[in-house]
Amino acid sequence: PSATANMKDKSDRATTEQVLDPRTRIILFKMIGRGLLYEVNGCVSTGKEANVYHAVNSERRHLALKIYKTSILVFKDRDRYVSGEYRFRKGYSRHNPRKMVRVWAEKEMRNLKRLQTAGIRCPEPVEVRENVLVMGFIGDAEGWASPRLKDADISPAAFPALYSELLLTTRKLFHECRLVHADLSEYNILYHVEPKAAPAHNGPSPQEATAIPTSAAPDQEQAQGDRGHLYIIDVSQSVEHDHPHAFDFLRADLRNVEDFFARRGVPCLGLRGAFEFVTKESLEGEGGPAAALACRLAQAEQDSGEDGGEDTAHVNARSAVDEDSVFMRSYIPRTLNEVFDPERDVGALNRGEGEKLIYKDTIGIVGPKEQVVDGQRKVQFAEDLEE
Ligand code: ADP
Ligand code: MG
Repeated sequence: PSATANMKDKSDRATTEQVLDPRTRIILFKMIGRGLLYEVNGCVSTGKEANVYHAVNSERRHLALKIYKTSILVFKDRDRYVSGEYRFRKGYSRHNPRKMVRVWAEKEMRNLKRLQTAGIRCPEPVEVRENVLVMGFIGDAEGWASPRLKDADISPAAFPALYSELLLTTRKLFHECRLVHADLSEYNILYHVEPKAAPAHNGPSPQEATAIPTSAAPDQEQAQGDRGHLYIIDVSQSVEHDHPHAFDFLRADLRNVEDFFARRGVPCLGLRGAFEFVTKESLEGEGGPAAALACRLAQAEQDSGEDGGEDTAHVNARSAVDEDSVFMRSYIPRTLNEVFDPERDVGALNRGEGEKLIYKDTIGIVGPKEQVVDGQRKVQFAEDLEE
């Protein structure tokens, strides 16, 4: 069948998922016409804001198409990422969903390029047209997508190295890409085992040659045993490191990382330690990021071993958790003009505009809470809450 026929069959099926509106179909047909795509296959993932499809180009290279949905409602709750982003100062129209979605897709493309330039493992950005982002496919030679970190079958012995890999990546993202992921978790990380490099005299098979994302620039320690690495995806909402809420997003990201690996028995740095490691300006005095991290991990392990009896261990673990939860709750202003302004915010709440407070749900707990006392609306601030 011709490429066009291929797409038609499959896009008809996708129409029932209400993503491929006529305009999106035209974009895909044009990509096929130009030879960028050969066929568009089934859905790899359906999400709230976008669906991801598997596609191949005429050289049988596997590709992923992320097609953003163009309905207005879907992007309403993204405002918190937009406020404070200088890249959004112009051209972000909250009233034109197609324009809005286009900005998100273009942003994901630009962010992927930054990751790639810094040598962070991620899908290779290929092209963006309106709401369609074309990128390298993270998966095997047959077109099966690699699992999310959440679902991956990883031997317990490999987790500590992956934890270190992820902290080093997050640090690099912060200092070299000048980005905070802002939705980093085991859901937005793929665990991908690169196919073994074929012996030189055989040469790679054409399939293998095209299935490997060329963006991968392995510059981190190889996990022992498992050869898999972590690939960062879903960077459309990532924010500049000087976004007024960058630190809140980073803290929430690191909370997810710490929770995930701690649940798997990895001796971690703890939220504060991880935050300090990622944000510290220079680690050259400590022999560079990898050495500095190893040293901190050894120190953390020693500290946890020092407290003798089980009771103290228990108490220490408790107080570390308490400390983390206080840290989690405290608002870290990124720039002075964004410092918590109770008067402004109470005013907004009393006008029924609480939704507009940009920090409102950055981490869920910080920010004024409303209470109705004697028919009067009262506002409570985080520091007053006895939680
Ligand atoms: P969403 O906004 O829906 O969360 P994501 O970018 O996280 O979008 O992609 C959703 C899912 O699609 C991912 O969890 C992953 O399983 C799959 N996916 C996304 N990009 C790729 C890719 N480049 N290669 C393979 N699978 C991908
Ligand atoms: Mg995602």
